[in-house]
Amino acid sequence: MRLFETLLDLALPQRCAGCGVLDQPGGVLDQSICTLCAALLSGPARRASPVPVPLGLPPPWTISAYEGPVQALIVAHKERGRTSLARPLGRALAKSALAALEAGSPGWGGHDAQAGHERGVSGSHSATEGLGVVALVPVPSSAMAVRQRGHDATRRMASFAVQEIQAAGVRVVRVDALRQRRRVADQAGLSSTARAVNLVGAFEAVAWVAGRRVVVADDVITSGATSAEAARALRAAGADVVGVATVAATPRKW
Ligand SMILES: [Zn+2]
Repeated sequence: MRLFETLLDLALPQRCAGCGVLDQPGGVLDQSICTLCAALLSGPARRASPVPVPLGLPPPWTISAYEGPVQALIVAHKERGRTSLARPLGRALAKSALAALEAGSPGWGGHDAQAGHERGVSGSHSATEGLGVVALVPVPSSAMAVRQRGHDATRRMASFAVQEIQAAGVRVVRVDALRQRRRVADQAGLSSTARAVNLVGAFEAVAWVAGRRVVVADDVITSGATSAEAARALRAAGADVVGVATVAATPRKW
């Protein structure tokens, strides 16, 4: 099935990975996404609100509900190797991360490119300068998942997000500061509580993050258990975790 899908992708390179259209008025954009689907990723960022809120979850931000074309785009990128989607998804992730930084940073002085440039050349070391270099830390995938997918989708997306955030005048780097300490059972089908229990102690920090301002990055937030565990591990290493940036949030099931 996967081979068939891959061949289909090769045979129909102009098909939008979100909605499947072959063409749109104005033409299908490059990077496997049409203008309409790209618009779904354009924001603005909003707060995600998992219920119940896991203990220790930093404020989570997201761009879209995890459904329809946005879900298809994320799955195509993660599971089907449509790596060209990393840039538009990374752009959405960047909007989330900027919102998390803005909300989580007292004295934040805005993040437009001009302001960032002025601060950069003035040498005043104020505003974002005083925050130090922000670390965008992707939630780690298991080694097995990376092997099966052929790439680490979240890291790839985070790299493009970093470029976007830098272009907005914020000093930021991707830091792969987390790794899985043990195997984690598949979260699908677990309740919120079971997800949290499944993940306790799952991650550990493997990079120097003490005193650093950190935003956790992931593609989708569901119960928030994964992000909360990532934040726990980073805080245990001394990081100042100001928020969680995601592209999409699983709609609440009432
Ligand atoms: Zn589309």
